[in-house]
Amino acid sequence: MAETLTASLEEISVELKPAKANPKPGKLFIGGEFVDALSEKTFETRNPATGAVITPIAEAGPEDVELAVRAARKAFEDGSEWRNMSPRDRGRLLWKLSELIRANAEELAELETLDTGKPIFESSRFDIPLAAECFEYYAGWPTKIAGETLANSAGGEALVYTLKEPVGVCGQIIPWNFPLQMLAWKAAPALACGNTIVMKPAEQTPLTALRFAELTLEAGLPAGVFNVVTGFGPKTGAALVANPGVDKIAFTGSVEVGKEIMRGAAGTLKRVSLELGGKSPNIIFADADLETAAKFALGGIFFNQGEMCTAGSRIFVEEAGYDQFMSVMRARAQKMVAGDPLHPKTRLGALISEEHLNRVLNYVTVGKEEGASVAIGGARIGTKGYFMKPTVLEGVTNEMRVAQEEIFGPVASVIKFMDMEEGVREANNSQFGLAAALWTRDIKKAHAIARRVKAGTVWINTISTTDNAVPFGGYKSSGFGRELGKSAIDLYSETKTVWVDLNQ
Ligand code: NAP
Ligand code: MG
Repeated sequence: MAETLTASLEEISVELKPAKANPKPGKLFIGGEFVDALSEKTFETRNPATGAVITPIAEAGPEDVELAVRAARKAFEDGSEWRNMSPRDRGRLLWKLSELIRANAEELAELETLDTGKPIFESSRFDIPLAAECFEYYAGWPTKIAGETLANSAGGEALVYTLKEPVGVCGQIIPWNFPLQMLAWKAAPALACGNTIVMKPAEQTPLTALRFAELTLEAGLPAGVFNVVTGFGPKTGAALVANPGVDKIAFTGSVEVGKEIMRGAAGTLKRVSLELGGKSPNIIFADADLETAAKFALGGIFFNQGEMCTAGSRIFVEEAGYDQFMSVMRARAQKMVAGDPLHPKTRLGALISEEHLNRVLNYVTVGKEEGASVAIGGARIGTKGYFMKPTVLEGVTNEMRVAQEEIFGPVASVIKFMDMEEGVREANNSQFGLAAALWTRDIKKAHAIARRVKAGTVWINTISTTDNAVPFGGYKSSGFGRELGKSAIDLYSETKTVWVDLNQ
């Protein structure tokens, strides 16, 4: 993934001249129309590669959120065009959305790279096509969502069946690391089930959600089915969580905000699903193909600058394979240089903001204070944009803060272990449980550990793969509810039981 970098910041100008993307001032998208915030307030979204302002974005207050929720409610109600739409036509609309994402892929990838600082290689090869695929996958679902006829104690005297119904108005709050992909993971299954949506993108990355809103108009999605409210979490996001007209909140983001959302949703007993952070163990046994394990370990932590909830950020290496693994890891990591995110050869872009960069850099200091040593990297690159060297900390022990806290940046903590028992015990010794990877040639050991690791996803001899058909989500503080696959259909539908007394 990340090892063939040739373009460095020194070689390439960071003057960004996108060919197609032309971000315009962002408005709110409510009831099928782009509107200013009632307060007319705006905020700015910036390009992390330069720190420059891209464009102003409307800041939704609680009154705008209320309008968006009302629009979504109206579109959901009995008799509405969306409510009366056949599953076949709903599926076609989802398919149309996927086609429109593909038709505008180049522009969407540029917008994503401008807003996030991630390499265009990643946004054009992963983020945008995977978002399109997500809509394709869920386009097949509306015609397959069905209840059951159930056996019951009344025998032939009663008919009992279930109906699968949409939950209603869904508030969806997403983070800045994979903006369009996170939108797709949430919007596609919710729409497939017949819900309506008020989407709150992260304040740092609203551009692709707003462009997607235009595409919903082009696709012919009825007005009010999909709405976007841009703004800040504690104001715009919190207003959505508190709004009594919202039936469900789906959230991806940090643990702290996840807790806040549960508290906020409790007042109105909203359904809640949470995808939170991680500190995923990547466990390397000495009997693994260490060369491949080291290569994948780099992608596992440095893809998307390490700004990944599933980042393999705790690399456990069995002592007998430690030196060999580390020599490959060190050699490959040293070759990685950050570059202009819009350059096609760049494999390591900028972090999302200066504030976040400083937070990540501070963890390097914390690690050193705790007794870890910096094997590679450990510093900012230049002063323009928010670039950081890929960083590997050695001599880490699992109780250190750099092993327990989510850094969410290009920092790997490498921890030595002696045997399988210690490896599994320490891997599980974490508040998180989003994902885990393990590398071994012993299939018996691999499957045994897969059962023992407390994580929503376990990768054996691979890392970081996801698929729209495969459930994804966390154990422990990494959240609850499973997105993607059939699981997301369950997240976005209610089951209604109907009893018919056949004697009457
Ligand atoms: P964040 O601060 O939790 O924000 C996530 C979203 O929640 C943003 O849209 C944010 O708005 C909004 N928000 C913040 N405070 C809120 C509140 N009080 N009420 C309602 N909404 C609120 O996280 P982030 O900084 O965007 O992303 C990094 C974190 O997300 C990491 O911890 C990472 O692990 C986690 N993450 C998890 C997954 C996963 O699948 N499990 C995926 C990606 C990221 P603003 O942007 O305006 O603050
Ligand atoms: Mg931005």
